[in-house]
Amino acid sequence: MTDARTAAASVVDPEIRVITIDELGILRAVEEDPASGRVTVTITPTYTGCPAMDVIRADIRSALTAAGHPDADVQTVYSPPWSTDWISEGGRVKLAAAGIAPPAPVPAAGVVSLTLAVRCPQCGSPETEQVSRFGSTACKALWRCRSCSEPFDHLKAL
Ligand SMILES: [Zn+2]
Repeated sequence: MTDARTAAASVVDPEIRVITIDELGILRAVEEDPASGRVTVTITPTYTGCPAMDVIRADIRSALTAAGHPDADVQTVYSPPWSTDWISEGGRVKLAAAGIAPPAPVPAAGVVSLTLAVRCPQCGSPETEQVSRFGSTACKALWRCRSCSEPFDHLKAL
């Protein structure tokens, strides 16, 4: 039997299949009641408008069932709100490797916000431009690199 935390953490984001919900930072808690064996998973949705949460809930339940925890409940909490800062270092590396430019850190309140260059995930050039606010999904914007002319998805900072 795989432990419930490991099983839930292995679920991949249905839109960004290279990264798990744990690396994305939306898996908040996995609690198992020692008496009943009932597992309660708490997740925080990412971008509003991403229709992925129902898929993620279903995927968590099937992963837990496959790991020997059929009695599972998935709860959604909205506070504190998810931010792209919750994406782990390992997750950012995977995003870049998949050709998705990871989001820049969100500036702290009160700090003068500089527009950080979005680096091309293909060649690393900061000479990039936004082509469309919406890429393949609502969470991603479509960008293009001026150095190598490659288009790429940029996960919007939030
Ligand atoms: Zn490039």
